[in-house]
Amino acid sequence: MELILISSCLLGQPVRYDGKGARSRHPLILRWLAEQRLVPLCPEMSGGLPTPRPAAEISGGQGEQVLNGSASVISTNQQDFSREFVAGAELALKKCQKQNIKLAILKARSPSCGSQSTYDGNFSGQLVSGQGVTSALLRSHGIKVYDEEMLLQAESYLAELERNSR
Ligand code: SF4
Repeated sequence: MELILISSCLLGQPVRYDGKGARSRHPLILRWLAEQRLVPLCPEMSGGLPTPRPAAEISGGQGEQVLNGSASVISTNQQDFSREFVAGAELALKKCQKQNIKLAILKARSPSCGSQSTYDGNFSGQLVSGQGVTSALLRSHGIKVYDEEMLLQAESYLAELERNSR
């Protein structure tokens, strides 16, 4: 059975910066949960950050640039969280490699988990096209990343994976 890495907050775990979860009750999530396909992980907590924690955004680039050291993840109180974000991304990748996971569903718009857009680094609420640190690292290793607003596409890819593994 193909497993799916999922952002812990999408299963309702209280791991977000504000101490809350972001549970998705989408029927596909509920089905995959019942099938015991979902492997939850919060990259920011895995990387060593506490919950609650100050909100953070990527400044000067996107996830790829944080990974290569040319941009930083900065919190509202000006702490540099880049090291923890990169460590969390590396742990997410290790988990995927260890469990042969080829598909991830990660929370939209997060500086770690976002896969289509993230905030612009100014805490202005402005979105820019791009991806967070964990999404960038997973994709650079061939793992497909979708968010909770793209579950039908994730379902199609899962079906393709299962056909190919028969
Ligand atoms: S890092 Fe990802 S899993 Fe953790 S709270 Fe943020 S969006 Fe959710």
